[in-house]
Amino acid sequence: MAVINILEKIVWDNLGDVIKRKAGACDCDICRADMAAYALNHLKPRYVATSKGETFSKAAYLDNQLYMTVIVALTEAVEVVSAKPRHEGK
Ligand SMILES: [Zn+2]
Repeated sequence: MAVINILEKIVWDNLGDVIKRKAGACDCDICRADMAAYALNHLKPRYVATSKGETFSKAAYLDNQLYMTVIVALTEAVEVVSAKPRHEGK
């Protein structure tokens, strides 16, 4: 058994799409990690005990309200990080 925050999976699964929708958003590893961290810090974690992560992640996707909440947080994260990216000087 493992305890996982299912929001983490939803964030990583959708981050790429949200970045693509935002003109000029960077998708380097540093910015992606900053965006994911920002979004997760603004979301209430939803931990589940699981032996099969797949089952729970599918259940999470069926929860449309939760999914939309994550997308809103991700959109804000992409905007905030894109306005002040940390990747300079890499
Ligand atoms: Zn970047």
